[in-house]
Amino acid sequence: MSERYVPKAYSPDSVPRVVERTAHDIVIVGGGAAGLRAAIAAAQTDPDLSIAVVSKVYPMRSHTVSAEGGTAAVLRDYDSLELHALDTIKGSDFLADQDAVEFFVARCPKEIIQLEHWGCPWSRDPDGRVSQRAFGGMSVKRTVFAADKVGFHILHTLFQTSMKFENIHRFDEYFVTSLIVDGGACAGVTALDLRGGRMVGIGGKATILATGGCGRVYEFTTNGFIKTGDGMALAYRAGVPLKDMEMVQFHPTCLPGTGILITEAARGEGGYLINKDGERYMQRYLPSKMELGPRDILSRSMIQEMKAGRAFDGPYGQYLGLDLRHLGAATIDQKLPMVRELAEKYMGLDPIHEPIPVRPGQHYIMGGVSTNSTGETTLPGLYAVGETACVSINGANRLGSNSLSECLVFGEWCGLAAAQHAKQKAAYPRGAASREALRKEEARVFDGLMGRERGKETLAGVRVEMQQLMERDVGIFRDEAGLADACGKLAKLRDRFGSVGMADKDRVFNTEMTGVLELDFMLDVAASIAHSALNRRESRGAHSRTDFPNRDDANYLKHTLAYRADGAPRIDYVPVKITKWQPVERKY
Ligand SMILES: Cc1cc2nc3c(=O)[nH]c(=O)nc-3n(C[C@H](O)[C@H](O)[C@H](O)COP(=O)(O)OP(=O)(O)OC[C@H]3O[C@@H](n4cnc5c(N)ncnc54)[C@H](O)[C@@H]3O)c2cc1C
Repeated sequence: MSERYVPKAYSPDSVPRVVERTAHDIVIVGGGAAGLRAAIAAAQTDPDLSIAVVSKVYPMRSHTVSAEGGTAAVLRDYDSLELHALDTIKGSDFLADQDAVEFFVARCPKEIIQLEHWGCPWSRDPDGRVSQRAFGGMSVKRTVFAADKVGFHILHTLFQTSMKFENIHRFDEYFVTSLIVDGGACAGVTALDLRGGRMVGIGGKATILATGGCGRVYEFTTNGFIKTGDGMALAYRAGVPLKDMEMVQFHPTCLPGTGILITEAARGEGGYLINKDGERYMQRYLPSKMELGPRDILSRSMIQEMKAGRAFDGPYGQYLGLDLRHLGAATIDQKLPMVRELAEKYMGLDPIHEPIPVRPGQHYIMGGVSTNSTGETTLPGLYAVGETACVSINGANRLGSNSLSECLVFGEWCGLAAAQHAKQKAAYPRGAASREALRKEEARVFDGLMGRERGKETLAGVRVEMQQLMERDVGIFRDEAGLADACGKLAKLRDRFGSVGMADKDRVFNTEMTGVLELDFMLDVAASIAHSALNRRESRGAHSRTDFPNRDDANYLKHTLAYRADGAPRIDYVPVKITKWQPVERKY
């Protein structure tokens, strides 16, 4: 009888703690829309170019998958690039760089057609043309969609396309912990292989950060648990400034309790916002646009309705109603099937018969790693793209459906620029800097963090305090006292973070460890948001200061740059680029 096979018991000590990997031409951190679009663009330029896509989750779990409503592009005769640019710039409250916006709008249509050719199932009109729906702040129907599961279909299309390229190498479930900087240039990343429980060096001649947003810095957000601003913190720690971090978008229609988004497409298809008296209250705040105003104005209007006592009260506090009943079952089922599903599953009601309870929640960040239009940062060899970057086309307020288009347009250009940069460099980075970075990270993560005993602070305790603080003092409405208090308390939370203990000592899939690494990143990001907000003493777009209620172009028509420094971030400014649209009062 043959001997029974007995697998060797897994022992973490039998696995080496550190592995130095072969270097690649380009290392892309992030497998969402921006990262995959960049990977495909770079791969297409040369089959010999070796591209690593590193993602802390399986790429199809990237947050792009949750995008619902659509992606903007000028496709019809009734529209124009000029109008798309103007809507975007006006929506940004004139803080967007106008050269970047012109670059952007001109390239959106090509991306829609490109995705179509790669298999994206866009919704269509009866005449066979790609459908377009209305979205907040857009003057005409400009938002292309695939029902209300746009992010899923875009990500699927990009993911499948990326698999055709043998020169794209995936590192799924690798958590990037630091950038390798060698001789003043970025030379790749160190990453924790979550399954293997080891620290890995992934060298690259060019590195692209495509790590998405940072919504989890706030308590009430539409963003999933993975959106912790890692790329922003990685760049910030390497000396790259974060631009316009005070510009945080709050979406008006989130489900109370969970923060799950009810897409703007629900209003684009004709949904009403109502208060407890059944009144379409937007007639008081923005009669020309009503429910299709930009998100900053709609979110503030909701808070004002709540303060005036015209909101509903529920187990999760005050809320307003999103009424779709008049659209009828056929439209809801055809155009908004996910909205119906979410309302049924998470609120236990059918929007065909009842309004959906909604309240504003953190949704997106306009700010991010400061880049130019091809994603270049101030650190040679380092690029950033997608929600983690600030190009800037969104300025002080992003228009819904411009973000996915931004990931596609700038993803392509960033991929091309990184490919060009990599081709100009003869040697792969594999030197002493990489080994040194690996050694440092090995000691920091496996000895420093994992070696911590249970302390008086807990991971959840510090995280929740940070989130509540940001919600309360750095939320929709802000003032000097609250912001100064938040800055002080965030510094104390940073100190307290040093006493957060770790109970789980296993190196494999240690979610407590990734939680600690993410909190470390979020504390940097939160501080950059609060300090940038404290220093902008005006109201512009999503940054609404009750003590400085007006826009102040004389002093603040400029981008904030936050640099990492000892203690508080150092704040500086650079001018906004104006091409042809002179700033005027933002009226709708
Ligand atoms: C609920 C919801 C609905 C939305 N709907 C729309 C919409 O209809 N239209 C629109 O234009 N925009 C929409 N947005 C915004 C838009 O979806 C996002 O801005 C966009 O998808 C971001 O894409 P990204 O590629 O930059 O990042 P993501 O898709 O978030 O991908 C980030 C990637 O980085 C990786 N990563 C992060 N940190 C690390 C690390 N430390 N190590 C390794 N990998 C890491 C992640 O694993 C992931 O692969 C929506 C947002 C939300 C939350």
